[in-house]
Amino acid sequence: MNLSLPDCLICRKHHGDLPVPVGVIYEDNLIYVSHAHIADGQETVYLGWCVVETKRHTPGLPDLTDEEAQRVGLWAARLSRAIQVCTGAEYVYAFVIGMEYRISTFIFSLAILARRANIGGCMWMNGLAPRAVVRTK
Ligand SMILES: [Zn+2]
Repeated sequence: MNLSLPDCLICRKHHGDLPVPVGVIYEDNLIYVSHAHIADGQETVYLGWCVVETKRHTPGLPDLTDEEAQRVGLWAARLSRAIQVCTGAEYVYAFVIGMEYRISTFIFSLAILARRANIGGCMWMNGLAPRAVVRTK
């Protein structure tokens, strides 16, 4: 599944074809680490939302190689600490998105999100959460 599909959002981002807020945080031959991308039609992104993605198309945690899993875990912990310090998050969530539904392709994207005090529910979706205007590279 080492594909690079022209319509795949993740591949387009990894190849520099999509704007990434403040640019890539870390990249090597196996993973790509960045802030969440700004959705079409939006000018801001949730403050405290980062992703760790594999370069290889693969659906989920059980499918990672040991080497990918070590790097994903390391960067999940590093991002969580940075998000907590930078946003004052009371907790940091992590969840995996394993499918690019528009084109039915497996992707591995681990989302790391801040939960702030005094904002309940799905705060990154409800418009109550702080958003940041970020410059793209
Ligand atoms: Zn892709």
